[in-house]
Amino acid sequence: MRVMLVTLVGVALLASGAGAATQPVVVLDPGHDLRANPITEPIGPGSSTRKIKDGGGTHGVVSGLREADLNLAVALRLRTLLERAGIDVVMTRTRTAGTSVGNIARARIANRAHARLFLRIHADGSTDPSARGTHTLYPAYRRGWTDDVYAASKRAAKIVQRALLAALGFPDRGVQERSDFTGFNWANVPVILVEMGFMTNPTEDRLLASQAYQRRAAVGLCRGTLTFLGRSASACG
Ligand SMILES: [Zn+2]
Repeated sequence: MRVMLVTLVGVALLASGAGAATQPVVVLDPGHDLRANPITEPIGPGSSTRKIKDGGGTHGVVSGLREADLNLAVALRLRTLLERAGIDVVMTRTRTAGTSVGNIARARIANRAHARLFLRIHADGSTDPSARGTHTLYPAYRRGWTDDVYAASKRAAKIVQRALLAALGFPDRGVQERSDFTGFNWANVPVILVEMGFMTNPTEDRLLASQAYQRRAAVGLCRGTLTFLGRSASACG
């Protein structure tokens, strides 16, 4: 018992000193990059099922905007808002300039940062131009992969979805579990993926391409994130 106590004290000291963050860390993951990545990777630790690292994302049917650029624009605005609110922010990328690193690499950034939330920012695409609305995805429960982050991720998905809907005013497509997302199955921290709207819908594409709506999206994501962390969302402006 004495050894145990000494160990616990040691761990507590390490956690409170030695450069450990006193502010919560949020990892922002703007989806995709300049180029797709056709190399495959296992969808979860030890899995024989493999998916390509990155199909490249969609683009604006009217604006021509690349999804990777929209995701990054919102993520950079969100970083500023969260940092002002006292959150440490780690980005999986800060430019749209290369081949996408894939989803295991993105999850590892969040795991190493001990993120309180791994927030993946995307926009949707469909072959049906009338498809529109906002939805948020979170990991399905799987023992050994997501059991440790399932409940918190689901809670985060509901909170962030509500805040994003309030900010954008797009139709509500709800929250949805996914068992096949590599970036979810490799995450050891609470993780969600927001699909802000459909870039293949002319109305939502036009709006999301505007500075005003990119700001709205960032404010909504900031409010949702702070609410999930138990902080006041009023810090988001
Ligand atoms: Zn995407």
